[in-house]
Amino acid sequence: RSMKRSEGEEVERPHAVCLPMPAQGHLNPMMVLSTFLHSHGFTITFIHTDFDRSRLLRSGGPAALRSTETFRYASFPDGLPPSDIEGNRHTPASGPKVTLLVWDGITSFGRRAAEALGIPNVMFWTASAAGLLSYLHFPELVARGIAPLKDESYLSNGYLESRVDWIPGMKDITLRDLPGVLRTTDPDDIMFNFVKDEAMSAHEASAIFINTFDELELEVLTAMASKLPPIHPIGPLSLLLPNHQAASMASNLWKEDGRCMEWLDQREAESVVYVNFGSVINLTVETFKEFAWGLVDSKQYFLWVIRPDLVPGSGLPEEFWEAARGRGLVVEWCSQREVLMKASVGAFVTHCGWNSVLEAIAGGVPMLCWPAFAEQTTNCYYACKKWGVGVEIGEVVRREEVTRLVVEVMEGEKGKEMKKKAAQWKEKAHRTIKAGSSFTNINRLLLV
Ligand code: UDP
Repeated sequence: RSMKRSEGEEVERPHAVCLPMPAQGHLNPMMVLSTFLHSHGFTITFIHTDFDRSRLLRSGGPAALRSTETFRYASFPDGLPPSDIEGNRHTPASGPKVTLLVWDGITSFGRRAAEALGIPNVMFWTASAAGLLSYLHFPELVARGIAPLKDESYLSNGYLESRVDWIPGMKDITLRDLPGVLRTTDPDDIMFNFVKDEAMSAHEASAIFINTFDELELEVLTAMASKLPPIHPIGPLSLLLPNHQAASMASNLWKEDGRCMEWLDQREAESVVYVNFGSVINLTVETFKEFAWGLVDSKQYFLWVIRPDLVPGSGLPEEFWEAARGRGLVVEWCSQREVLMKASVGAFVTHCGWNSVLEAIAGGVPMLCWPAFAEQTTNCYYACKKWGVGVEIGEVVRREEVTRLVVEVMEGEKGKEMKKKAAQWKEKAHRTIKAGSSFTNINRLLLV
């Protein structure tokens, strides 16, 4: 619990409690941050929900969550346990005095707890800065009568193409590019109101750390700077830790299948299309089929990660594998961070979750974007329209379009342009985290 500063002098180790939103895209960056703090002398208490804890143990084995004296795991119930209903209280876990609480932008109850206890705390936003800036303007969407939408017809009558020229830092954006959660007609929509209210808690933070980097989101970060507490971009966090340390983090909710690494190593440079829709979204059987046939018809090599719960009750039929002629590999989960670093990966079909986008940028891989919800639509807009590293697949997926775009990115002129841009962003990403502003900013966290 304590560190020796010099002979005879004992100092208390600082102790950070890290409270992520219990979802894969939040656990990963929070785990990187915690590992960083730990390697700089912090004691860590990393908080899971009981549900995630049991999943992590299933995917990583009992060793995955074994606490040490200085890196401790704790968990809390996800539902109301009987003891609460009976009016009893949980016994607080004992441990060293907490000196810092790191709350996820959408676990703002952590901030309130820290304040009540008088503990210094910081907000860690794991999504894009553009996502945060968008959510911060949700109250104005309501005030202007834009959201909730008046009725369902507004989803298809061209209304979503309207320009939004009143969000500073996002000049050319349209309603369609803002987070998809605004596409609701229900004033009590749970997701809309949740993200709106949670994002507003940024105003109460003592400091905000974001998994992005200055050059990537400069306009947005500049626009936010005058409105919010101090903002420190610290990404891409997937590049922060040495490989062995990142690989040993216990944060996979699904069991990793390492076969794909060897398979990728056997392929030629930039010859594989990597397809992964992240940890949350589901595909309809129809959409799944269109992606599958679009991919096979492109005649490219492909690695497709199909989570067991990606598509309800549907596998790939025999005819698919016959048509794929040994060009494809399907696994249930992979280490995406590592896959996107492989030289053989030439393109990434992605739902544009922020971690996926940043990991693609860190690996210099161009993207075929098919955003589904939350701020994925916003990330897609930036990848395609601002950074030049993405092309968008239409919302209603058609196999011919998938084939055309895959071939274009893998072999066409557009693909060449995108690869050039992607290589430039990759270099900037590595530079900022190794010795640039992200490096400087993450070290500020040690001083909070
Ligand atoms: N991920 C992974 N293996 C997979 C799928 C996803 O390691 O097979 C990781 C991915 O690298 C990323 C996170 O899970 O860090 C997903 O977060 P993202 O923000 O991209 O999307 P979400 O899952 O939240 O929609």
